[in-house]
Amino acid sequence: MTEQRHATVAGEAETFDALVLGAGVAGIYQIKRLVDLGLDAVVLEADEDLGGTWYRNRYPGARFDSESYTYGYSWSQEVLDRWHWKERFSPQPETLRYLNFVAETHDLRRHMRFGRRVASMTWIEDQRHWAVVTTDGERYLARWVITGLGALSVPTMPKVEGIDAFGGSAFHTYDWPRDGIDLSDKRVGIIGTGATAIQIIAAIADTVGDLTVFQRRPNWSVPLRNSAISAEEMEAIRSRYAEIVANCAATPGGFEHVADRRNYDDLTPEQRRETWDELYDAPGFALQLANFPDTFFKPEANQELSDYVADRIRQRVDDPEIAEKLIPRDHGFGYQRLPLETNYFEAYNRPNVHLVDVSEDPIDRVTPTGIRTRQHEHELDVLIFATGFHAMVGAFNRIDVVGVGGLTLKDAWADNPDTYLGTLNHGFPNLFMIAGPQSASGSTNYPRALETGVAWISELLEDTLAAGHSRVEVTAEGQAWWSREVRSMQDFMPFGRTSKSWFTGYNSNVAGHEEGNIRYQAYWGGAPRFRAHLEAAVESGYGQIDRR
Ligand code: NAP
Repeated sequence: MTEQRHATVAGEAETFDALVLGAGVAGIYQIKRLVDLGLDAVVLEADEDLGGTWYRNRYPGARFDSESYTYGYSWSQEVLDRWHWKERFSPQPETLRYLNFVAETHDLRRHMRFGRRVASMTWIEDQRHWAVVTTDGERYLARWVITGLGALSVPTMPKVEGIDAFGGSAFHTYDWPRDGIDLSDKRVGIIGTGATAIQIIAAIADTVGDLTVFQRRPNWSVPLRNSAISAEEMEAIRSRYAEIVANCAATPGGFEHVADRRNYDDLTPEQRRETWDELYDAPGFALQLANFPDTFFKPEANQELSDYVADRIRQRVDDPEIAEKLIPRDHGFGYQRLPLETNYFEAYNRPNVHLVDVSEDPIDRVTPTGIRTRQHEHELDVLIFATGFHAMVGAFNRIDVVGVGGLTLKDAWADNPDTYLGTLNHGFPNLFMIAGPQSASGSTNYPRALETGVAWISELLEDTLAAGHSRVEVTAEGQAWWSREVRSMQDFMPFGRTSKSWFTGYNSNVAGHEEGNIRYQAYWGGAPRFRAHLEAAVESGYGQIDRR
């Protein structure tokens, strides 16, 4: 990037070969690949620094629930050789340090601009480039735009009256105060019991004065079983990085956990229980991913597993009434994104932690001094909204993306975010999405899928440039084919048409995403099958993509 070429006259657009939107895990790797391709490229990041998810989610207890060494990048030998993961499931501050370490090791910061939120991007057909404008009015022109916007980067607030009038501190978990907040002795309320809340509740229960949890629906959750990684263990991990990456690549979820080869029906209840005891005591997603696969497809098997996990909850919660409230009744184990926890259930044994079941006693309004439910007044100093995100599509909807003939991406996706391989959109040439809707990212170990996406996009770009083309657009038929594949995979899943989870586009706080509005926005065929489709596309000479 030469400064001279990009020197701006006020109001004049700067021209780049490629723009990357977002400096999170995806954008950091993508800019490296573009620089290696010799392209003049820059990352535009809305936040004040890099890190994406790991820059924003600063709440107490925020950490991986993928094993750290399966989460980290595999593309940089230097990083693999030098970085020491300190914990099996890395906490947010360490993860943010890691991403900074990667950027510094490969001198990537100089290709990043912070505090740039893209407001609009318009395809200019006759010049074959995107005209991109930030919220501050900065203008850019680029032939290629690659998005790494984050699947969970648009927080959603409940539709409850009075939030603005609350007299204490109130914030969404994604907007956790940058410099932290002292919660000791405070009366804290938290709305939500998803993966985020489950981490926070366990982390703050013994430091806050009082904690009131407003739960609408409980989630299944099992122990994370975190531990420190010593220097010797790290050496052992380093020595098998190639094997770790290969193991992850071979499993549907993109983890090292391998499904049990045995069938549920082939075992006695005692044998099943013995296996589940072992998996419950194992770290990470073992109970979900190393189980008998048919446990998730046979209703009676899933019921037995759910009953097993319910019993484990009962064993850990002293008050039987509270225990029953913490057990999900509306979905089976493994049918929503499984939160992993450390002493979450034990938090409810503390006298300063209170559970309010808002399905029985709904929130009426937020008052200046707390929350009024139909039956009670809850006095609070701090109110935390752990109410989730407008997943997958929210970050795209925030940008006014105008494609061929004035078609907007928002309109194109109004009913469902149909894409080609989660990467391309018909009507939106030269726009590539890393881990877009209908990719295997959200449904598998996220960074493994991001690497797959970045590599595929980079190779497509390299091949396209080598062929002398400057315009890339998936055909309508190609996109329709992928939409059918995505639907058939999701419909095959037991939760495909019923789940109330962001996996299937559910969000009670976003119009059109309430219960019953199922979307097909994740790929459920598993990571190996997804990669096979990507490879087949290459082998076919990108047959479903129009390149000119
Ligand atoms: P979430 O799973 O969508 O949970 C949102 C919670 O807020 C749910 O309990 C929901 O209840 C509740 N809620 C929403 N609106 C409400 C309202 N109006 N009144 C009462 N309750 C309301 O969001 P999240 O916990 O932030 O997690 C999102 C995703 O982030 C996770 O699934 C995971 O993929 C990712 N994550 C990952 C990690 C990690 O890697 N360790 C950690 C945290 C999060 P209902 O269920 O009734 O809608």
